[in-house]
Formats: sequence, structure tokens, C-alpha cells
Amino acid sequence: MSTVAATKQRLNTSKAVGWRYCANCVLPDTRPGLRIGADGVCEACANHARRPDIDWTRREKQLAALFDEAQARATGYDVVIPVSGGKDSTWQVVTCLNYGLRVLAVTWRTPGRTPIGQDNLDNLIGLGVDHIDYTINPRVERAFMRASLERTGSTAVPMHMAMYAIPLRIATAMRIPLVIWGENPHQEYGRTDETARPDRLDPDWGRRHGILQGSAPEDWIGSDLSRKDMEPYFGPDAEAFAAAQVDSIFLGDFLPWDPETSLRVADENGFRRAERPRVGLYDYADIDCAFIAVHHHFKWLKFGFTRLFDNLALEIRNGRISREEAINTIRRFGDQTPHEDIDALCAFLGMSRGEFAAIEERFRNHEIWRRDGGAWRIPGFLIDDWNWQC
Ligand SMILES: [Zn+2]
Repeated sequence: MSTVAATKQRLNTSKAVGWRYCANCVLPDTRPGLRIGADGVCEACANHARRPDIDWTRREKQLAALFDEAQARATGYDVVIPVSGGKDSTWQVVTCLNYGLRVLAVTWRTPGRTPIGQDNLDNLIGLGVDHIDYTINPRVERAFMRASLERTGSTAVPMHMAMYAIPLRIATAMRIPLVIWGENPHQEYGRTDETARPDRLDPDWGRRHGILQGSAPEDWIGSDLSRKDMEPYFGPDAEAFAAAQVDSIFLGDFLPWDPETSLRVADENGFRRAERPRVGLYDYADIDCAFIAVHHHFKWLKFGFTRLFDNLALEIRNGRISREEAINTIRRFGDQTPHEDIDALCAFLGMSRGEFAAIEERFRNHEIWRRDGGAWRIPGFLIDDWNWQC
């Protein structure tokens, strides 16, 4: 069978089970927010193809104007940069320092911080910024992560709430005029509408984009977590935020965000890569937290794809590999269950692997997965001869 015929057959098989793969990249439309058009191509691929239309020179001027305004309004720091220590954080900091801004970097300290994550954060601070490493009481974080895992099949709710709330709270309290995030996770390829106002990460942003699985900090108050325990997860009061006139933008909306560019800039400024990828394809992404791979692992159970699919989709769109090469890579990597990281998370949460496995099974999506001969498998999966036994 020819490659094209094989691809078509896979697409058709998937369609028969109610979902399908993008004909250009490798992502299925089970991925939340990913729609596939009548031409079989997903919106992320279509948006990427439109990218050359964006007038980046104009946007860079808009950015320079925003920086000027922040400097004019600032009484202390010009900007807050939320940072993890990853390559994008390094790129954000280098960019702002090149513009001559006085930077306060702010980190929500993940309880799973890795040694290389700490090294890269130390390096970033050494570039010439003040820094707040905001650590939440481990008892609270543990209780919240456990509740999040049990209720949503993801440990990401506390992570996202803290990551978004803390920098906005600090900017509001310290009257710092501008918060500068990296890539906009909802417009990975930039705004395509030149007249639209760029997206602002205000206190309502998480709810608008469904980042927090539709939940707010107050929804998690209960026997294990009091209102006072939950304090770090609350964003600034809307009135206080408005009164402080904090603006909150994504750098990726103003400068062409490309992983290769930010990686090059980070490499040139002392950023260190891991010895091997922690999850997915890259040795420079998802390396600062030991729990991030577990977060991605649940996508396999819920949606039938892994972090590797996301990474390869980006490689395809950037013309660095073909779809067939991507499929071969997925086949070669095989099962991506992050056993070591699951053990680390279970140890932090005080949970057995048995309890964890029960949660995994509760979140396995039976519209995708079928039990067949003792093994779970995905009918119509991208790779016909996948080993389902592990
Ligand atoms: Zn696609």
C-alpha cells in the first residue's frame, strides 16, 4: 500500500470511530480546542500556514511603545516577568534587559523542581534581575494536587492557578505597570487578525480560556483546604487590579515566537539542556519540573495522544520533518509512560501506585479506548502495528 493510501485508510478508520487525525500533522481532534477543517487540516496547522501575513515590524513597534509607557509610569520596577527557568523564561528576560527594562522576575516554585531547573533559574537571575521564588506550604500544595488529580485527572489545576495568580498579585500590590508572559498558549502562532487587540492575561483570563478546567480557587475549599490555605491561588481583586492599571501581555503576540529562536538566545545566555528529554522530543523543554510528564501522561488516557505528538506537530509545521518521519518517530519511541516521574509524584502525594492506577483508569476515555484481549487499545490509532501490551 502506498504511503498516501495508508494515511487515507488511517484517517477513514479514525473517522469511523468518531474522531480523526489532522492530515498535515499527527494530532487527533480529540485534543481539546483542536478542530479539523473540511480539508482534513487542523486549525493549528492552518494558522501556522497564515503566519507570514503577520506584520511583525508593526507589532515590534507596538511592543516598544508599551515598554516606553511602562517605563514612564513605573516608580520602581518597570516589568514583572513570570519565569520557570526554562528556555522561554530566559528569552523573555534577555529580551526585556535588551530594551533596558528594570525587571522583577517571579516564580511559583514547583514542588517538583529539578536540579537542572534550579541551575537554569540561578543562571537567569544572574543575567541581572531581582527575583521572588514564591513557595507554597507543601501541605497545602500536596492536598490541592491530590484533590486536583482525583477530581480532574490532572495535577495542573494548582500549578496553573498559582502560576497565573502570583505574578498578577505581586504586580498589583507593588504597582508594577506591566507583566510580560512568554508564548500565548491559545495563540501559539500569533494573532492572525491585525486589528484585534492583543490578548491580555488579566485575572479573568484563565476562566475565559478554560485553563483551570472551569474551576476557581473557592471551589477547592473544604475539609483539607481552608480559605486561608488557598490564599496564594487567588488572583488580585478585580478592582485593585484595575486601580493599579497593570497591563499583562504575551511577548509571543509581539515578537515572532519560535522555539528555535528562543532556544538559541537561551543557549547563548548560559541556559543548560538536560541529558535526555524528560518527556516528548526535546532535551530543552519540560525539564524544570519532575511532575510535568505525569500531567502530559493523562492526555494519553483522555485523548489518545502524547507530548511527543505535540512536539512532532510543531516540527512538521516548521518544515523540519515530514508526517511519515513523525509517525516513524512515534513508533520508534514506543510507550511513553513516565514511570519514574509517576513514582516521584506518588511519593510527594503519599499515594501508592495502586491508588494512582485506579485514578488512571477512572480517566481513561472509553470513547477512544477499547479493551481487547486483555490489553487496552485505540481502534484506528495512527500506527497500525503499535504494541499495546505495555
Ligand atoms: Zn495539524
